[in-house]
Amino acid sequence: MLILLSTIGVTAGAHRLWAHNSYQATTSLKIFLMLCQTLAGQTSIYNWVRLHRLHHKYFQTEMDPFNPQKGFIYSHFIANNLKLSPAQEKLLEEIDMSDLEQDKIVMFQKKYYWFLFVIVTLLLPINAPVEYWDETILNSFFILGWLRLGISYHLTLLIHSAINVFDLKQMDRNSYDSNAVFFINKSYWISYHYMSPWDYQTGEYGKYGSDCTSKFIRVCAALELATDLKTVDSEMIREALTLCVDEKKPIEECLTRLGKKSHDKLLKHYLTPSKFH
Ligand SMILES: [Zn+2]
Repeated sequence: MLILLSTIGVTAGAHRLWAHNSYQATTSLKIFLMLCQTLAGQTSIYNWVRLHRLHHKYFQTEMDPFNPQKGFIYSHFIANNLKLSPAQEKLLEEIDMSDLEQDKIVMFQKKYYWFLFVIVTLLLPINAPVEYWDETILNSFFILGWLRLGISYHLTLLIHSAINVFDLKQMDRNSYDSNAVFFINKSYWISYHYMSPWDYQTGEYGKYGSDCTSKFIRVCAALELATDLKTVDSEMIREALTLCVDEKKPIEECLTRLGKKSHDKLLKHYLTPSKFH
């Protein structure tokens, strides 16, 4: 449960809400997601988003801090232990963070991050089982402390490295049936996230729309906690492909343009509050 909550905090919160603005959230949902993101024990939302935006902006170049072209080991393990180069630091400073700077919840978490980290990430998960259901301190420390934190930490690191695992390999004709991950995930759509990062349904681990985070956002929309969910439908994809051919523009640009234009006709299939009235 704690691993699920921390993953939701990073995927639905830091990633889809704050980094890509793929939907809007009420204050109560933001507070919930901020606490869940803190539980994951990563850095603050502000720092995470800034680095993620740098990753998108310079995707697969030398300036990408998680450059997936250097392989899974690099983007998952090595990159997270390397300091940014002076050139990357300079580009990081240039990342536009004005939207997050106006977000009181993000700035509160940034200011008190270490205090929240000690309380939410360490003390509460380790202390509660000892206090309320007689768990031994050693079990609680190693399982709910280190093991839980380790698993959720690596799950969230996958956001930057999963493209090496779940994605189609260029020129690799055997990848469809040789990659076991496909049978678990049934999708290689992870590249789509880099084409339309504003689509709330782009799964971090390769799924599209049917993953836990997309469902969580739809439930929040039904409860009127999330609004303005941005996504595409087949009609928009068709329009984007026509635009792409007519204007000879990249598909990413056409999708982004249509996504911005047809905000209110997006998605009719998610749960609507009226169904519950
Ligand atoms: Zn992203």
